[in-house]
Amino acid sequence: MFDINKIRTDFPILNRKVHGKPLVYLDNGATSQTPQVVIDAIVDYYTGYNANIHRGVHTLSQEATDKYEEARIKIQKHFNAKQSYEIILTSGTTHSINIVASGFGAILKEGDEIIVSALEHHSNIVPWQMLCEKTGAVLKVIPMNEDGSLQMGMYHELLNNKTKLVFCNHVSNALGVINPVEEIIHAAHKFGAYVLIDGAQACPHIKPDVQELDVDFYVASAHKMCGPTGVGMLYGKEELLNMLPPYQGGGEMIETVTFEKTTYAGLPHKFEAGTPNICGGIAFGVAVDYMNEVGFDAIATQEDKLLAYATNELEKIEGLKIYGTSRKTSVISFNLEGIHPYDIGAILDKLGIAVRTGHHCAQPIMDFFCIPGTVRASFTFYNTLEEVDALVAAVKKAKMMLS
Ligand SMILES: *Cc1c(COP(=O)(O)O)cnc(C)c1O
Repeated sequence: MFDINKIRTDFPILNRKVHGKPLVYLDNGATSQTPQVVIDAIVDYYTGYNANIHRGVHTLSQEATDKYEEARIKIQKHFNAKQSYEIILTSGTTHSINIVASGFGAILKEGDEIIVSALEHHSNIVPWQMLCEKTGAVLKVIPMNEDGSLQMGMYHELLNNKTKLVFCNHVSNALGVINPVEEIIHAAHKFGAYVLIDGAQACPHIKPDVQELDVDFYVASAHKMCGPTGVGMLYGKEELLNMLPPYQGGGEMIETVTFEKTTYAGLPHKFEAGTPNICGGIAFGVAVDYMNEVGFDAIATQEDKLLAYATNELEKIEGLKIYGTSRKTSVISFNLEGIHPYDIGAILDKLGIAVRTGHHCAQPIMDFFCIPGTVRASFTFYNTLEEVDALVAAVKKAKMMLS
């Protein structure tokens, strides 16, 4: 049974006030709030068994290693990876993408082609541009439609035997639109191209199955799915992770070192140089457990309700335009005619309402709509219909004050 009042008590921050008003947190697309169980896991680590992993013979080190590796298995099960060592723990989505992009620097040749979607986050554009500069590969872009969906016909036309890699987000962070990743993956594989799906914005809403998707690489950040910042994951098919060279050299990622030659450790350690975010990794595992306990069906039901109600109520405001109307998660990106999104965001903050304003690290999308940015309200399962009412009332007030 989904009990919203009980759920909200799991998140202590939701009790705080901002400018004397109850906090209405609608910036979940930037980072989610942290439930008490995850906070407890962090405190337990530092108060109980803080130690470096994979090297100590002493008890604390063994305990920390066991918990860290347990977290990897929780994450493996969550994403249904075949092997736990196909889950690389990273500092987040950006780090995960860079591991793959930099690895392909040793594999791609001049004239090879990379396809990205027009809906990408900057972290899924810039590393590929750097890769193209380094290798002479060419970047192609799947254009978007007015409703925020991708022009899939154009995607199929872009694919050819020179295509080596395709990168697309599962859900767009700027608009919340859900992309047809099954079709993208299937079509790329027909040409022997590899596919990386950026799941940073999808994982708070959807439980992806990497084997069913048959995806080559899948990446996500813990902090958007109730975990802490500075930790995330890279899933890769075993043979592909073996094919890529290591990203960083250092401790943990080697088997033997002499000044003549170093041999690398096997998976996952080959990609985990240096002391990792041990506490963060453990807390990531706890966050995944927490989300599964709430249940992804219950999450979807609550979020669909919030999205439908908020869309309906906001659309009643004259001069308000919503960007991205195709099938999407609980994100509403909008503008009020003639008013800068930043000004709306500042007034909402004074009323205790946290939203994001700006280009959302997706400037090409803003250029497409010829706007400087949007106001983005991103809802999650712990938000309520009353909070939607507070948002709508505040937007009306902002409109009155600014026009
Ligand atoms: C947040 C986000 C990223 C970047 O995640 P980091 O945790 O900052 O590395 C990448 N892609 C999408 C779609 C995102 O929403």
